[in-house]
Amino acid sequence: MLKEVHDIVIIGGGPAGLAAAVAARKAGVQDILILERDSSLGGILNQCIHNGFGLHTFKEELTGPEYASRYIAMVEEEKIPYRLNTMVIDINENREVTVISRENGMETIQAGAVILAMGCRERPRGALNIPGYRPAGIYSAGTAQRLMNIEGLSVGKEVVILGSGDIGLIMARRMTLEGAKVKVVAELMPYSGGLKRNIVQCLNDYGIPLKLSHTVVDIQGKERVTGITLAEVGPDRKPIPGTEEHYSCDTLLLSVGLIPENELTRGAGVEMNRVTSGPNVNDQLETSAEGIFACGNVLHVHDLVDYVSEEATLAGTNAAAYVQNRRSEGEAHPVTLKAENGIRYTVPQTIDMEHMNDKVVVRFRVADVYKDRYVSVYFDGERVAHRKKKVLAPGEMEQVILKKEELQKYPDLKEIVFCTEVE
Ligand SMILES: Cc1cc2nc3c(=O)[nH]c(=O)nc-3n(C[C@H](O)[C@H](O)[C@H](O)COP(=O)(O)OP(=O)(O)OC[C@H]3O[C@@H](n4cnc5c(N)ncnc54)[C@H](O)[C@@H]3O)c2cc1C
Repeated sequence: MLKEVHDIVIIGGGPAGLAAAVAARKAGVQDILILERDSSLGGILNQCIHNGFGLHTFKEELTGPEYASRYIAMVEEEKIPYRLNTMVIDINENREVTVISRENGMETIQAGAVILAMGCRERPRGALNIPGYRPAGIYSAGTAQRLMNIEGLSVGKEVVILGSGDIGLIMARRMTLEGAKVKVVAELMPYSGGLKRNIVQCLNDYGIPLKLSHTVVDIQGKERVTGITLAEVGPDRKPIPGTEEHYSCDTLLLSVGLIPENELTRGAGVEMNRVTSGPNVNDQLETSAEGIFACGNVLHVHDLVDYVSEEATLAGTNAAAYVQNRRSEGEAHPVTLKAENGIRYTVPQTIDMEHMNDKVVVRFRVADVYKDRYVSVYFDGERVAHRKKKVLAPGEMEQVILKKEELQKYPDLKEIVFCTEVE
């Protein structure tokens, strides 16, 4: 059977896939195909009708659909082909992409390079082990957001939100604006998982209480939720007996974490990272499988879409260089990036010092809330950067820029360590 062939195949038409496609086209690749399982391009941004997007990229405050439409317009302008309602069900290390659609059934596409841009999904209730029946009225925050903002449905009137990630915070404000009473946002950890600006603008501005170190220990109601029980948790995250409080409500929203969508990536035999749940990548954002690149939330969960677009532009440019055989020759000089003492991970995980760009942006998240701590960088045990940060929080992504000229001062460099330090 004759296989369809394309230079670059991009899986996912969200902000990452769109920015990668535009960058690859600008780098001179004509034959690009975007595959999107949904009925429109734009990804999760289509349901994020609040503003706060694009401050870095466009120096304007846009809504999610507005931000997405700017990139969709660029894709249209560049006449980059895309297929909607087309789900990728398999890829392999030879970059054969199996897709399924109502129109064409099952097909296999041979890609010169693949860019993974599948985004992430929400952690479901099943992962939480909360006792109780399975009544109506329990939604993940993103599902509630979709029902309200895309389907135009009302989700509930009296609401408790478990989890203070950004989606939970945004939905606390959204439901309040729609006339619901959000009684409390409860967070298991002693700090919020969301951006500071969202705590201020979505909870504080509306007088919605945030209870840190609390969790839901019981859900009441058989047909529909009628209430929940909240309890304080200790340092071991276990509920403290005697701290239970009852809240009557008809809706419980869960905003308890995002999981990068990497079933396809694993299927391709790509090396995965235990902490990010995304693939390990080098400074070109190339995975352990040659010619397979990754960007956006599938690589690691981002806080701001602007960084997704920036990262995806790099993936698109590098995928273009790969299919055009423009990558410079010469033996690789791999340097391992390690996260230690309060830093959970870095992306990328390796840098090829020989072929790296003039600068590499290293992004990471910290493990806890730290005040007046230093972020330090060590080249083979020697401290080369030491920057004081007033506050570091797990909800906010951090970055350090490494310059090639700095690395080249250490010709035998093997390891770069990122850590936090008290002094
Ligand atoms: C509720 C919410 C609120 C947010 N608020 C803000 C904010 O205020 N400001 C801000 O800057 N950022 C915000 N963000 C973050 C930002 O929206 C994300 O970082 C960004 O959308 C991630 O882009 P992405 O392309 O990686 O993923 P997505 O937008 O999720 O796109 C992935 C795409 O891949 C498609 N796909 C997945 N698997 C397949 C497959 N097998 N086959 C074909 N297609 C597939 C999906 O359908 C989807 O369209 C928010 C995110 C969420 C979820």
